[in-house]
Amino acid sequence: MPYLFNHLDSIEKLLRRSPFGLITDVDGTISETAPTPQQAKVSPLCRHYLSALSQHLALVAAISGRPAIEVKNMLKIDGMVYIGNHGLERWTEGHSEFTKDAKDYPEVIKAVIKELTPLLSIEGVRIEDKGITATIHYRLCREPQLAERDILVALENLTPAKRLRIMQGRMAINLIPLVKVNKGTATLDLIQGYHLQGGIYLGDDLTDVDAFTAIQSASHNSEFQGFAIGIISREMPEKLVTETDFTLNGVNDVERFLKWMSQTALEPS
Ligand SMILES: [Mg+2]
Repeated sequence: MPYLFNHLDSIEKLLRRSPFGLITDVDGTISETAPTPQQAKVSPLCRHYLSALSQHLALVAAISGRPAIEVKNMLKIDGMVYIGNHGLERWTEGHSEFTKDAKDYPEVIKAVIKELTPLLSIEGVRIEDKGITATIHYRLCREPQLAERDILVALENLTPAKRLRIMQGRMAINLIPLVKVNKGTATLDLIQGYHLQGGIYLGDDLTDVDAFTAIQSASHNSEFQGFAIGIISREMPEKLVTETDFTLNGVNDVERFLKWMSQTALEPS
């Protein structure tokens, strides 16, 4: 897919649309991937430009597999919209709200995590309980491929896991409620809710592909026009490249792009 910095004219044209929305993933997109999720920090430059853009665009949203409150605490920008747990949860007016269909899932997640306790005997495996979803990390394992296989086998034999969608991410496996909510449906909700005419989505992982597809289908079926931008990394899933309109190379490039975008969007036309 074409490198975004060779096609700034297309983005410039898109930016003239209003209301305009910028939706971004967090980990691996505006924050470097860290050994553990707790160590990850949003790049100060990204934060700076997102803050500037949030004053001028109709919508600046962060969407992540993390709980919504964590996303909010990582960015701390007033006026931004925070969507957590792959679209299942939204931070609004000082508290987070779960989508209706997923309300009984915290029980399921608890049951699955309890059954998965034996996996913790593999050195480096971490299970993150995120309320209505969970993530099993194996980045720190000495043999990540073997750990991944053991995790998948354990999940296959687990009855409560049948109610969950098992999604592989970057050195992690996500357990997500089997409801029709994902980063794609959340993106469509934002496009409709904010009556967006133009938009950009930035993401680096398999869960972002749903959002890329949403951006593209909305661009075909409505007044909306948008671009999906994939952030290239060494651990990148193959599908990411084929489904994006443009690519950027890592968080550094996202910093450069947000800088360019805030200068372009904020300059009087
Ligand atoms: Mg990511």
